[in-house]
Amino acid sequence: MSTAIVWFRKELRIHDNESLSKALKIHKQIIPFYCFEETEFGKTAFGFEKTGSHRTQFLIESVENLRKNLQKLGSELVIRKGNTAEQLARLFAEVEVTTIYAFKDIHSEEIAVQQKVEQLGVSVDYSFGSTLFHVNDLPHNFKETPKGFTQFRKGVEKKSSVRELFPEPSLLNELPKEIELGSIPSLEEFSLEKEKVEPKAALTIKGGEDEALKRLKHYFYDTKELSWYKQKRNGLLGADYSSKLSLWLWNGCISPRKIYWEIKKYEEEIESNQSTYWLIFELIWRDYFKFICLKHGTSVFQLNGIKSEEYEWSVDLEKIERWAKGETGIPFIDANMRELNQTGFMSNRGRQNVASFLVKELGLDWRIGAEYFESKLIDYDVASNYGNWMYIAGVGNDPRDRYFNIILQAKRYDEKGKYVKHWIPELAELDASVIHHPWTAKEDLFGTPQLNYPKPTVEPEYWKKHY
Ligand SMILES: Cc1cc2nc3c(=O)[nH]c(=O)nc-3n(C[C@H](O)[C@H](O)[C@H](O)COP(=O)(O)OP(=O)(O)OC[C@H]3O[C@@H](n4cnc5c(N)ncnc54)[C@H](O)[C@@H]3O)c2cc1C
Repeated sequence: MSTAIVWFRKELRIHDNESLSKALKIHKQIIPFYCFEETEFGKTAFGFEKTGSHRTQFLIESVENLRKNLQKLGSELVIRKGNTAEQLARLFAEVEVTTIYAFKDIHSEEIAVQQKVEQLGVSVDYSFGSTLFHVNDLPHNFKETPKGFTQFRKGVEKKSSVRELFPEPSLLNELPKEIELGSIPSLEEFSLEKEKVEPKAALTIKGGEDEALKRLKHYFYDTKELSWYKQKRNGLLGADYSSKLSLWLWNGCISPRKIYWEIKKYEEEIESNQSTYWLIFELIWRDYFKFICLKHGTSVFQLNGIKSEEYEWSVDLEKIERWAKGETGIPFIDANMRELNQTGFMSNRGRQNVASFLVKELGLDWRIGAEYFESKLIDYDVASNYGNWMYIAGVGNDPRDRYFNIILQAKRYDEKGKYVKHWIPELAELDASVIHHPWTAKEDLFGTPQLNYPKPTVEPEYWKKHY
């Protein structure tokens, strides 16, 4: 009876799981395996936690849920922590394995992990399942991924199609008794502290496939918010202005194809409109950045980006700290950064603004911002994060120089200052007319008990005509 390992990486789900499906077709005995890989923890180049406590907690919950769902099918999840290749080698000493089934990752650190696993002498059978369009179904070789998003999108929309979902197994084998199952590590084992539950958060975020599917059902069917996605997606406050599915996409608790086919079902059964299409449009952005990463490799982490564009950048510790803590004195920036720090999430509108501010107004090395996001975001995804940061820094493929006028943006998307007041209670009493630039209030409130809030780090001339 041949035995295979299904090595779960960033596809922590039972549904639409190609590796699981393939293994089950060939092997009588499969051993589901997950390792909290040591290289995903520790410090980034600029000294932030690589995986901060919000995301680590989410990951722990996702693995817990995967184990529970495998148990329901009669199996188990073998859990380890440390160096994946070494942990697998130890397992091979306990049980004879012929093949490892796994999703192929496309990023340098993850590739290094899989290369070590390949050296163990057991064949590795890879699947490719993190994108909407399969790499082999693109209208071009991935090495020729077009420079611009629009060309990429038009190409896949016209010439590619989204594959069907892989079937879910209804029963799995029991694991051999001699295998030690391993326990799920706690946050403390990663030297991280549990974040307190943030009462201001609009959404209680929990990891796992079950929660992902619950969120899909809520956003699509219970509330029918999907029908309003295009109109609301630039929102800042509340649980349902956007899908929030990124929270579960990054570690594969949900598959992008599952979302796609569910949109198609919704379009048939409930409504098809610009909003339903727009969610697919955004998922194509996600694919675009993945294929850009696949094409350009590690240059996405370089200062000059994939465009090899040279600009002046600085590293100013005080400015970095004020930006990161949400203490720049510019309420729209600070509110977004405080939401990120306290919840592990920030809206797309917020991300664009705080990134543009760091790059264009503070002139800081954009990779500091990208690494801070890497540390704090629950939905951190190498391609989407570095892809978007490069875009904003002007070192990506974008032909336009993206620029966000923070004051105008704040007034447009947070007209009455509700969002700012939600995250910066110090400003709760300020009038809406000055909420986005408190330094222009008639009375000088700074330093008084009414306004325990810093003066602005910068005040570009061009902001002034928008006060
Ligand atoms: C500087 C910056 C950094 C970012 N870092 C990340 C990141 O690490 N991880 C991440 O998932 N997204 C990132 N994004 C993209 C985007 O902000 C988030 O995907 C989105 O806010 C997640 O919320 P949602 O699921 O409600 O999105 P929705 O608006 O509901 O969109 C649905 C899905 O489409 C995809 N999507 C939407 N916008 C983008 C985009 N601009 N780029 C790529 N995919 C997109 C996401 O998978 C998202 O879940 C970043 C954007 C910026 C400007």
